[in-house]
Amino acid sequence: MPTDLSPVDSALTEALESERSRQRDTLSLIASENYASEAVLAAQGSVLTNKYAEGNPGERYYAGCEHADTVERLAKERACDLFSAEHANVQPHSGTQANFAAYQALLDSGDRILSLEMTHGGHLSHGQPYTAVDEHFDVVHYGVDEATGRLDYDAVEARAAETDPDLVVSGFSAYPRQVDWERMQAIADGVGAHHVADIAHLTGLVAAGVHPSPVGVADLVTGSTHKTVRAGRGGMVLCGEELADSVDTAVMPGCQGGPLVHNIAGKAAGFAEALAPEFDAYARQVVENAQALADRLQARGFELVSGGTDVHFALVDFRETHPDLTGAEAEAALEAVGLVANKQTVPGDDRSGKVGSGLRIGTPAVTTRGFDTAATVRLADAVADVIDAPEDEAVAAEAAETVADLCETFPVYGELAVASA
Ligand SMILES: *Cc1c(COP(=O)(O)O)cnc(C)c1O
Repeated sequence: MPTDLSPVDSALTEALESERSRQRDTLSLIASENYASEAVLAAQGSVLTNKYAEGNPGERYYAGCEHADTVERLAKERACDLFSAEHANVQPHSGTQANFAAYQALLDSGDRILSLEMTHGGHLSHGQPYTAVDEHFDVVHYGVDEATGRLDYDAVEARAAETDPDLVVSGFSAYPRQVDWERMQAIADGVGAHHVADIAHLTGLVAAGVHPSPVGVADLVTGSTHKTVRAGRGGMVLCGEELADSVDTAVMPGCQGGPLVHNIAGKAAGFAEALAPEFDAYARQVVENAQALADRLQARGFELVSGGTDVHFALVDFRETHPDLTGAEAEAALEAVGLVANKQTVPGDDRSGKVGSGLRIGTPAVTTRGFDTAATVRLADAVADVIDAPEDEAVAAEAAETVADLCETFPVYGELAVASA
């Protein structure tokens, strides 16, 4: 993948080359990250970045959109196929934009949104302080059961009755269990509220049928396209025909101008790959690897929120087993050996989001590299060794060697990355 920047901009070239090496030589355990295919990278780095295409295919505000139309129609059709949706808007620049558009499509300014508490696994775009969502709407929260780490649907229902929201948001950033979309819809219906299911993290698992789908259950489904579905950076909204016009208007002009047609091309490429049968095996392996990771960490004495995982990551809670260790310290110790994970608050955490008492460890990216459960168990042991002795240099050296070996055995971008290093 030549960057062609060196003659004009050595500082930028160096940063890009360094980032490529970093991705090659470290393991991403960040549950929201993945490695896009070369086809997706090529689409996103294409001349489509030059094109203005405000509007929808066939009805643009600019001339010269025939190929942009083809690209966007492909992305929309493939999204509808992949998620069995009647309508897809593939223009949101990100998952956050997709959520804002969903709220705009369903709500009036000042309406009430009921969403999961951020420290319990919710997302900024579900209405945290300082967001535009919080500015425009009246946001209240529900939580998970702090003892079990799981959603207590009766408690969510009671919270809905108490707060009488206009919209209930489900779908989360750090909830390691399957979500019962029907139950969330019934809770929303019970108080006459709309329901948005945000599958940002779960896109790939839902596409492959490894996690139940909220499409056809929730009023609207939103998502990011760069996480488990590996279709490059961006967002999308899925809905039935009856909401199609409201959604399209809410996206543009509601919260965006011209779409990022190059990113839409990336979505088209990634969705095509996700429609291929191999993708289902990938998604199944992601979950098997997460479960192998969870089992090994538990065997090594770690506590996991909810006691395990049904999805693509495990959430470690240090409070009982490593009371003096913060999530931030664990993150730093792991990064020093090439294991890139993220600190996380756990339900009932006393520490702030910048520190946290937990660590979220995801398997989507390493599974794209080709990890099987045996490799994942080696990885889990390296994680456990480092967290148990974050100051021990010999342990760090050994973990770094394991990481180097795993990176070599399971390369990202194969020969290409090596050739261009
Ligand atoms: C990642 C995520 C999003 C969107 O994030 P962007 O960075 O804006 O794409 C939305 N909702 C949830 C639950 C997420 O985890």
